[in-house]
Amino acid sequence: MMELETDDIAAGELEPSSGALYVIGTPIGNLGDLSPRAKYILSKVTIIACEDTRHSGQLLKHFKIKAKLISFHKHNTFSRIPKLMQALSEGKSIALISDAGLPGINDPGEELVAKAKDNQFNVICIPGPCAAITALVSSGLPSSRFCFEGFLPSKPKDRKSILKLIAKEKRTIIIYESPHRLLKLLKELSDHCGKNRPLQVARELTKKHEEFIGPTINSVIKHFLITKPKGEFTLILGGLCSIIKAETTKEDLLKTIKQLLSQGKSSNDIAKELSLKKGVSKNFLYSLILQSKKQTSI
Ligand code: SAM
Repeated sequence: MMELETDDIAAGELEPSSGALYVIGTPIGNLGDLSPRAKYILSKVTIIACEDTRHSGQLLKHFKIKAKLISFHKHNTFSRIPKLMQALSEGKSIALISDAGLPGINDPGEELVAKAKDNQFNVICIPGPCAAITALVSSGLPSSRFCFEGFLPSKPKDRKSILKLIAKEKRTIIIYESPHRLLKLLKELSDHCGKNRPLQVARELTKKHEEFIGPTINSVIKHFLITKPKGEFTLILGGLCSIIKAETTKEDLLKTIKQLLSQGKSSNDIAKELSLKKGVSKNFLYSLILQSKKQTSI
């Protein structure tokens, strides 16, 4: 069995160690989610590098933490890194936080961590909230194998090629989207993955109005055509293999297959078309096509 430290600070008595970079998860909405260890480290480090000093200043003020804040965001990442490496080499301890959640997950941090590792500095993550994982584990969709896409690219060509890959992806897919682009994304997902593909949209995770909207792309579109998208959203999209429980039954699929066979379509074409439209695996479709052919020949 895993050994637990009984005192939440016990592991941290020697923390923060000098010359170490602490990557710290901060709340994605609920301030109660900042861990005791995170608070402790934030109050002890020499420097806190954060995306927005005003935003993080408020978080720290709430927890009565006084610390030296410096900005670290996507526009100054490369000019800041040498200064932070210098501070680590002088034995200073640094905490890296973002506006919300885990740094490095669609937030600045990846390059700083890589550089610190290259220079043999200790990098320690103080785990905390992350919208992607929080949404995934409470979505009811398969969580044993998944992939993370973050925000899809905005350039039409890049976006289309990612959407094509997403349509074929067998694992559960996690996507971030802003409220004003949500409906556009939902329509694109419907075009590429089929309207019956399982989808759970997590809204306002960890906050008072947290909710999940699902169970398919189609039902989510219907919901947001009536209710204007507001707040923060994380999409959990079922992979190509996920069996549609919500709107497509085996009987529906058999009926459609019979119709397509009577129109003279080949098994390959039917499997290809339905796996994209309905989000069902090709193997499962081939078994239904076989079943349908047998039934017709009786
Ligand atoms: N680093 C963060 C993390 O670990 O989750 C993600 C930062 S990314 C810039 C912000 C996006 O995360 C939002 O646009 C939204 O898609 C998602 N997100 C953040 N907080 C959320 C929440 N409370 N509920 C749902 N999605 C959230």
